[in-house]
Amino acid sequence: MFIGKTALVTGSTSGIGLGIARSLAAQGANVILNGFGEAGAMARLKDELAELYDVQVRYDGADMSRPDAIEAMMGAALSEFGCVDLLVNNAGIQHVAPVDAFPVDKWYAILAINLSAGFHTTRLALPAMKKKGFGRIVNIASAHALVASPYKSAYVTAKHGVAGFTKTVALEVAELGITVNAVCPGYVLTPLVELQIPDTAKARGISQDEVIRNVLLAAQPTRKFVTVEQVAALTCFLCTDDAASITGAVLPIEGGWTAH
Ligand code: NAD
Repeated sequence: MFIGKTALVTGSTSGIGLGIARSLAAQGANVILNGFGEAGAMARLKDELAELYDVQVRYDGADMSRPDAIEAMMGAALSEFGCVDLLVNNAGIQHVAPVDAFPVDKWYAILAINLSAGFHTTRLALPAMKKKGFGRIVNIASAHALVASPYKSAYVTAKHGVAGFTKTVALEVAELGITVNAVCPGYVLTPLVELQIPDTAKARGISQDEVIRNVLLAAQPTRKFVTVEQVAALTCFLCTDDAASITGAVLPIEGGWTAH
């Protein structure tokens, strides 16, 4: 499906991003992994994917909160592969606290990683996509790009921003063979969600079991977590030729959450 194409998936050393990188590689894309991880583990992951799927795999540990690091990563990707054909902006962090107690540094970090990083990768990837007349940009937003939850002011703000950015860029490149979409997962049981359970319990004054039952899964009419594989499958579809007419879309994959 993606043979000869190069994919860059930010935040792909864990959770949803890793699932997307695996799926793209399994369908023939060369993949640039990004995210934090111990050097030995990253080298093993890179080799595992390259051998399993017979594609080229690179790892770039650029910190998505730093525009200079993003520029260096994109420069290296473009000089090696010529074009990042499939760009998946996925890196993200979360912090849960009431707005009047929200740590200022966390606010800026969430906006930088969850929102501004995608601006930088996009602006740097587009010239080569335009030259080729092909490109796919998928921004991993969240159900929180469509609705809010208390105690997540920075995250909800950033993800709503991602939805607006997605639509704007989609309009700018609509005639050039480039699509730009946002995927909006509900709760997926990854480290990002596991780590927020204790803070949510504290903020709401309830137990961690109650957070899973009465906060996380209560949001989703299916009462099931969304899986990494489901998000990866939707993302891969958006990268295909069949999805050429889907652009500027902000697509929920959240077990019916936003139908409420
Ligand atoms: P995760 O914590 O499992 O993975 C996050 C990835 O981002 C990791 O690879 C991590 O190293 C990387 N990362 C974090 N900070 C970074 C930085 N400064 N620079 C580079 N990489 C960085 O989380 P996840 O649940 O897989 O989340 C992935 C994306 O999906 C995020 O944008 C998140 O907001 C979104 N999302 C997650 C859920 C969910 O329920 N898990 C729901 C909706 C949306």
